[in-house]
Amino acid sequence: MHDLIIIGGGLAGLALAANAARAGADIILLEARDRLGGRVLTHQTGAGRYDLGPAWIWPGMQPRLRALVAQAGLHTYPQHEAGGLMFEDASGAIQRFARSFGQEPPSLRITGGISALIDVLSAGLTADQIKLSMPVERLSLAADHVRVRTESSEFTARHVALAMPPRLAAALTFEPALPRALQAHLQSVPTWMAGQAKALAIYRTGFWRDIGLSGSAMSQIGPLGEIHDASLPGADEAALFGFFAWSPAQRAAQQDMLADAVCAQLARLFGPSAALPEALVIRDWATDHWTSTSLDHAPLREHPTYRPLDWPRPWGDRVLLAGSESTADFGGYLEGALAAATAVAEKISINREFSLF
Ligand SMILES: Cc1cc2nc3c(=O)[nH]c(=O)nc-3n(C[C@H](O)[C@H](O)[C@H](O)COP(=O)(O)OP(=O)(O)OC[C@H]3O[C@@H](n4cnc5c(N)ncnc54)[C@H](O)[C@@H]3O)c2cc1C
Repeated sequence: MHDLIIIGGGLAGLALAANAARAGADIILLEARDRLGGRVLTHQTGAGRYDLGPAWIWPGMQPRLRALVAQAGLHTYPQHEAGGLMFEDASGAIQRFARSFGQEPPSLRITGGISALIDVLSAGLTADQIKLSMPVERLSLAADHVRVRTESSEFTARHVALAMPPRLAAALTFEPALPRALQAHLQSVPTWMAGQAKALAIYRTGFWRDIGLSGSAMSQIGPLGEIHDASLPGADEAALFGFFAWSPAQRAAQQDMLADAVCAQLARLFGPSAALPEALVIRDWATDHWTSTSLDHAPLREHPTYRPLDWPRPWGDRVLLAGSESTADFGGYLEGALAAATAVAEKISINREFSLF
């Protein structure tokens, strides 16, 4: 029997696993996908790694990320903002503003992409401790342990951490069944950015910078709603990325012409050189069922308020939510993933002195 089974190998699950393993706990991490990282995902080219999930951190107000980045010896750099901003209004008219609005506080990126955090945390774990392509289906509670079942395997542990969005936890089968109110609550918690999609366009040069543009743009007609420079420092190529303004339903309906629509919009905003990127990558998180459910397809107007949830008896402290959406402390963000992992480690008494952040 293990001390702890962690279900989910995103930032939260890996942070908890790394800290628990350092503290000497007998742990195992079960991840549904064939890769680690969850919503953290990068696109690799010869020049480096571009973020297709989270890209920005704010270490000035995020102490756990600040500590993890420092301990791992990772480097950060500010989101490129210098230069003019393009704006496309609802009629399709385009205006150029002298300066980008600038993000406050400034957003920082990590050299090597956010996946560098995943690399650092997973490096502290052994191959035996990580099981990929292991979607968990069922949790059964016994007197002093929990039995965790996948399609073909079974594991037992004193504690189980669900390091995943509450909506995905609600899809698991629990024996005994969860109280209806708890089940309904889990389903009601939106997964941050789960309905979003990102487009990444890679070019030979950052031609927009040559004409005084920052690469930032806002659009009221889409397909992209917000665009930024995604170039890697010192790389011999340049890139733009954008969040889609089109909903998951609009994206699905126009799937065949989505790439053309993105390139056409980039050309409207940044000139004809933007029409033909060397590579265009579209990552639609809404179509990924290890992140998103159909409930996440309704657009979120603002950042939800997240809060921790104590499970009632008999589940008590045997099963704990550990994903970013289970903390009030930067819930939904990368910092929230570390905060949630810390909270679970404390609950099951994993010694603080082993913490990586
Ligand atoms: C497009 C996008 C942009 C974002 N931008 C930012 C940003 O700039 N800054 C920021 O701070 N945050 C941002 N976020 C949010 C950030 O990505 C998340 O807060 C963070 O990655 C959550 O980590 P997590 O480990 O809690 O959850 P996840 O990363 O979702 O990990 C959950 C893991 O559980 C696994 N899993 C699910 N069900 C099962 C099952 N049944 N069995 C086994 N495994 C299972 C999944 O495969 C996944 O690996 C962004 C997210 C997206 C999608």
